[in-house]
Amino acid sequence: GQQRLPELLTPVYTEVLRRNPGEAEFHQAVLEVLESLAPVLTARPDLQDPELVERLCEPERQIIFRVPWEDDSGVFRTNRGFRVEFNSALGPYKGGLRFHPSVNLGIVKFLGFEQIFKNALTGMNIGGGKGGSDFDPRGRSNAEVMRFCQSFMTELHRHIGEHTDVPAGDVGVGGREIGYLFGQYRRLANRWEAGTITGKGQGWGGSAARTEATGYGCVLFTAEMLNARGEDLQGRQVTVSGSGNVAIYAIEKAQELGANVLTCSDSEGYVVDEKGIDLDVLRQIKEVERGRVRDYAERRGPSATFVPGGRVWDVPCDVALPSATQNELDADAARTLAGNGVRAVAEGANMPTTPEAVRVLQQAGVAFGPGKAANAGGVAVSSLEMRQNAGRDTWTFAHAQDQLAGIMRDIHGSCRETAERYGAPEDYVTGANIAGFERVMAAMVAQGVI
Ligand code: GLU
Repeated sequence: GQQRLPELLTPVYTEVLRRNPGEAEFHQAVLEVLESLAPVLTARPDLQDPELVERLCEPERQIIFRVPWEDDSGVFRTNRGFRVEFNSALGPYKGGLRFHPSVNLGIVKFLGFEQIFKNALTGMNIGGGKGGSDFDPRGRSNAEVMRFCQSFMTELHRHIGEHTDVPAGDVGVGGREIGYLFGQYRRLANRWEAGTITGKGQGWGGSAARTEATGYGCVLFTAEMLNARGEDLQGRQVTVSGSGNVAIYAIEKAQELGANVLTCSDSEGYVVDEKGIDLDVLRQIKEVERGRVRDYAERRGPSATFVPGGRVWDVPCDVALPSATQNELDADAARTLAGNGVRAVAEGANMPTTPEAVRVLQQAGVAFGPGKAANAGGVAVSSLEMRQNAGRDTWTFAHAQDQLAGIMRDIHGSCRETAERYGAPEDYVTGANIAGFERVMAAMVAQGVI
């Protein structure tokens, strides 16, 4: 975690800044990868060409489109839609759609860039992409969400396909939205092309364990990191931020492995529950009522408190799983966690830990699992969904979960092995970035200048 930008790559980064003005999150995601590459550039003369790295940082295609829709009171509204098709050297573009008011081109590019490496790490043949809209689903009726999704897909459908670009969910896009998006795609394409979207319902082409995969995978990865140190999750105190799809299933798997999960959160604050989060209560509020975590404390009784505006990182824990959003865990929070003796931190969300916070944690000897590795379970099971769709097959939950566990074990192994090989033992950031980079680069070199 002590790296700095290799001199060879300074012009590449300067060019990224020049071409993508004001896109702070994208700059951050690129710099983090480029800083990891120093050892690989020395060891692999075949990958030393800065032009190759520059090409990797430039999306193959960026689509921006208007999304007009009508709200329930008859008012017409306009949002902006995005799809960044970043890299297809390993397979069709693959990555989720995010509906959130914070979405802009820079956010989509940072997510798409990370997706390239994450997808490469899964060992599957999927390229990297991401999309979304600044549409805010909060407070919108079902009918409004449906009309928005239909309008979004009316433009997006011409750009996607099972062999071209395969979207899925992300923040603000869950099973309901995927249903409306797939329905409109099917209508426009007049084809049953199930492999064009993943995260579908299980009765109509979805994979068992896809909903659980990101959260489960994050906890399985954490267990692997702890096992490598001769520890496990049994009896551990765990803090989780967020209360969406990733957080809920991270909580479920951590509890299954014997941990006590103390917290969950949303943009209004966090809940701490000394008896451990009651998932029935949380799921009722979040998945059925689409409500807020502040309601949890009232319903759960005296073991739970809602802390408005606070951050979960102030709660002492052995394991922290940031599963809300980018840059939610800063250096100050990292110092608090380290001071309280945290053993492992794994990213359920994409880039939730700031670069300085990562350095603080690594220097304190905390096992740190970057999102590219730790949250790759979601896209890995998406890839298994594509495989089932292509073979007109339906796997059992047990089989899908076994596959997920194997993939998470392999990702952990390849991060460790790569970090070791490049002289940064136990540094999962270096391991994940270099392992992903090597696989994508080898494919790009082999396929020529395209
Ligand atoms: N949005 C998820 C991610 O960040 C999943 C993407 C997918 O399944 O394609 O990896």
